[in-house]
Amino acid sequence: MKYNFNQKKFTETADLRNKLAIVGSDSEIDWNTLQTKTEKLVEIFHQTDIPSGHPVIIYGHKEYFFPLAILACIHSNTTYIPIDKIYPVERIKKIIELTGSQILINCSDVNLDIDIAVTINDDFTIKSNYTPNFHNRIYGNSSDPLQYIMFTSGSTGEPKGVQITQSSILSFLNWALYDFGFSSNDVFLNQAPFTFDVSLCDILNSFAHGGTLVLSSTEIVKNQEAFFNRLIHYKCSVWTSTPSFVYLFLRHPNFNSENIPSIKTFLFMGEDLPNRTCGHLKRTFTNARILNAYGPTEATIVTTLVEITNDIIEKYPLLPIGFPKTDSKILIDKKRSEDKDGELIIVGDHVSTGYFNNEDFNREKFYIHEGKRAFKTGDLAYYENDMVFCIGRNDDQVKMHGFRIELNEISNVICKNDIISDAVTIALKRNNEVKKIVSFVVLKKAIEKDELIKQLHLFLEKTLPYYMIPGDIDIVNEFPYSTSHKIDKNKLIDDYLKKQFNNN
Ligand code: AMP
Repeated sequence: MKYNFNQKKFTETADLRNKLAIVGSDSEIDWNTLQTKTEKLVEIFHQTDIPSGHPVIIYGHKEYFFPLAILACIHSNTTYIPIDKIYPVERIKKIIELTGSQILINCSDVNLDIDIAVTINDDFTIKSNYTPNFHNRIYGNSSDPLQYIMFTSGSTGEPKGVQITQSSILSFLNWALYDFGFSSNDVFLNQAPFTFDVSLCDILNSFAHGGTLVLSSTEIVKNQEAFFNRLIHYKCSVWTSTPSFVYLFLRHPNFNSENIPSIKTFLFMGEDLPNRTCGHLKRTFTNARILNAYGPTEATIVTTLVEITNDIIEKYPLLPIGFPKTDSKILIDKKRSEDKDGELIIVGDHVSTGYFNNEDFNREKFYIHEGKRAFKTGDLAYYENDMVFCIGRNDDQVKMHGFRIELNEISNVICKNDIISDAVTIALKRNNEVKKIVSFVVLKKAIEKDELIKQLHLFLEKTLPYYMIPGDIDIVNEFPYSTSHKIDKNKLIDDYLKKQFNNN
C-alpha cells in the first residue's frame, strides 16, 4: 500500500497490507492499521467540526501517532502546527496565543499544562475543556488550503510561523517521487525533531512510496550501539539528516557498510555539507549514494538537489547545493553586475504564502516575481556549471548542530529579564562552522557572573528550546561602537577571546 497525495487516498500496491508502515519509538503499526487509524482520526475531526484553515497543534516526539496525525490532517484538509517536545511550555503557549489554536492532538504521555479547548489523545479519547471557538481563527484561502504552519526562530524575540499550502507540498512530492530515486522497498530513518521540516521529508517520501518509516527518539539516538542495532534490525536504507547529525557517528568503528549494509542513501539537508564528511562516508559506506539538498523552510523542505560523487568531492572543496527542482527558479541578486555572488532568491509555487500575521517581515522577505511567489533567502550564492553554490549568509541567522537560530531572538528574550539593560548575541565560528554562541550583556545592577548565568539560564529555558541557550554570557560595561555607529562585534569577540585566554 501507499498514500497517493494527489488523489488523497490509500492505494493498493503489490506490497502486503501488513507490511510495516511506521515504527515509532513507542510501538509499530502496519499499513492496514495506518489506514484504519488515519480514517478514525479524520472522523473525529469531522465530529469536532474543525474547519479547514484552523490550525490544530500536533504535540509529541517520535511516537508512531505523530506522522499518522500529520497524514490525517493532509487527508482531511486540516491545517496543523507540528510541535516537538523540545519546545518549552511557554513557547507552546505563545504559539497558541498567536494562532488561537483550539485543538491539540497529544501523541505523547505528557500531561501538558496548557489552556486549550479540546485535546485528542493517541487512543482517540477526547478531553473537552470548553466548546471550541473557531471564529476569526481560520487562515489561508480555500482555493489552496493552508496545510501547516511551522514555527522557526524569529529575530524579534518571538517564533516566526512559516505558512505552507497544499499545492506547495504537492510541488515537493511530485519532484521527490521522481528525482530522489526512492522506492517502496525503502526504509526511511526519521530522527529530526518534528518542528523542523527535515523530518517531513522522510515522512512524505515514505508514505508516498509505500515504504516504512522508522522514528528514532533522542533517547534512542543517544545510545549509539542501540541506534545502530535499530538501523540494522529494520534494514534502514535511507538516512536523512543534517550533516551535524551524521558527524556524531563518523568516528564510531561500527558506523560502516560492513556493519550496517542496508544504508543505500545518505540524504543531507539543513546546513552546509562539509567536503570532508562526504569523503569519509564514501570510504566507509562504499556503495551508498550521498545527496545534498538545500532549501529554507519558507520554500517547503528543499529546493535544490545534487548527488555528491567522488568526482564532485575532488573537484569542489566547497560542495554544490545542486540544481533547482523543475518548477522552481533560483535567482542570484547581485549588488553589482561584476560580483560573483549575490542573495539567493527562490521563485515558485512551493514558496510559502508568508509568515503568519507578520506583514512587516512579509514585505521584507517575500514578493511576486513574474507572477510567482518569491522568497529572499538571505543566503549568499553563485552559479557554476549550472549548479548553485552557497557561501554563507547576509544576516544574523546561523545554524548550530543543524538548528536554525536567529541571534537577535536570543538577545531580545535576554533583554526581557529585569537585571539586563541591553544584550547582543554573537556566534563564534571556526572554518565557517558555529562553535559557540555568546551573549554579551550590559547590566542594570551589579551581579556576580556565576549567579547571572544561573538566573538567566532558568529564565531562558522557560521560553527558548535548549539549543538556543547561549554557551556563555559575558558582562560588559558598555558596547563598543564602530565608526559607522554599529556595535563593534569584532571588538567584542576579540576582548572575549583575550579574557578566555588569560583565564586559562
Ligand atoms: P531551515 O529553514 O531550518 O531549513 O534553514 C534553512 C537555511 O539553512 C538555509 O537558508 C541555509 O542557510 C541553510 N541550508 C539549508 N540547506 C543547506 C545546504 N545544503 N547547504 C548549505 N546551507 C544550507
